[in-house]
Amino acid sequence: MGGRYFVQNPGPTNIPDRVLEAFRRPAIDFSDPDFIALADSVWTELPEVFGGADEIVVLTTVGHGAWESALTNTLDPGDAVLIPDCGLFGKRWAMMARDLGYEVVSTSEHLRSPTDPAEIADILAADTSHRIRNVCIVHTETSTGSVTDLAAMRAAIDAAGHPALFVVDGVCSLGIEPLRMRDWGIDVVVAAAQKGLMMPPGLAFCALSERAVERNHSASTPRFHLAWAPRFERGHIYMRFGGTPPIQHMFALRAALDMIAENGGIDASVARHRRWAAAVHAAVDGWSSGGPWEINIAEPKHRTAAMTCVRTGDIPAGPLIDMARDRFRVSVGSGMMSSLEGRTFRIGHLGDLNEPMLLGALGGLETAMTVLGLPHGHGLPAAVASLASTA
Ligand SMILES: *Cc1c(COP(=O)(O)O)cnc(C)c1O
Repeated sequence: MGGRYFVQNPGPTNIPDRVLEAFRRPAIDFSDPDFIALADSVWTELPEVFGGADEIVVLTTVGHGAWESALTNTLDPGDAVLIPDCGLFGKRWAMMARDLGYEVVSTSEHLRSPTDPAEIADILAADTSHRIRNVCIVHTETSTGSVTDLAAMRAAIDAAGHPALFVVDGVCSLGIEPLRMRDWGIDVVVAAAQKGLMMPPGLAFCALSERAVERNHSASTPRFHLAWAPRFERGHIYMRFGGTPPIQHMFALRAALDMIAENGGIDASVARHRRWAAAVHAAVDGWSSGGPWEINIAEPKHRTAAMTCVRTGDIPAGPLIDMARDRFRVSVGSGMMSSLEGRTFRIGHLGDLNEPMLLGALGGLETAMTVLGLPHGHGLPAAVASLASTA
């Protein structure tokens, strides 16, 4: 079948041709001045991509590796960390922390709303001995479609007068949601390249505040490859990457950052994602006028701009996902965790995208619903109207 395959998953995302072409650039030595200059340019620009980081760590790994790096570089063995039960990614980060021997303090499970800053404030206020060393917050929870209010979370930590580090999972929010490390007093942002940065999987980041760098000096958890300190040594290009630099990934990252800059920078990228999200929400509302379809996160201000988790009521989601992919070449994400699996699907609206691609994906889904005889109202006209009103 001809034409493009639509990658409408919430990661990995579409990869622009310019980024793919960057991978074709022939190998050079990592100590070549051209590569060092390219790496330096990335280190110069990334702090502002994160809204004001004091130090950047680039890891050749996925989001999970950056999670692990953030924990082991800031904690002593057995330390307590607060990781809310906000969905699959919060659960997995907590599972990792437990397996690494840390004590996890959590919240009630909340799969239809983001983490509540008031609940965090209460937990921290009760922790009068300051046993909790890190507050680990997932910004965009990619299993449920929620976005956490990080400014409110900062205020909650301050209200409790708690000295914990503020650690944020920005894997599915970097370049998509406003992320202001400096303004919101965030100490660590964990990120990966295959969501908002439009790259294939393989690069991840920890963006750090000065407080995080200071904590790193005393943190005594054993670590080696994912350790930050050796990577702070800028003069040593091999150590900066903890081993052989991922040269082609860095070419590709350079291309992706250039594309974002040429298209108005991070703020413009955030604004584009907001418009795409509004169009998808309008389409789902249109479908819901004639069927059981429902956005998992009811409160509009709690929905992330990165992706939308759609509840399918009593309709099994699997046949729709399969039909959309196999017949219409529109790939969307399936539901995650036992509670959402089979009765939700997830539409990614992030990364390398434009309006016709988005309308094509929504049209593919709507046509698949029609072919399968699933009850639904019209979503496409609502998406068109939404895009037209915000163009
Ligand atoms: C995708 C994702 C991860 C995991 O990233 P991997 O690269 O698959 O390890 C973690 N957190 C969030 C919020 C994500 O969306």
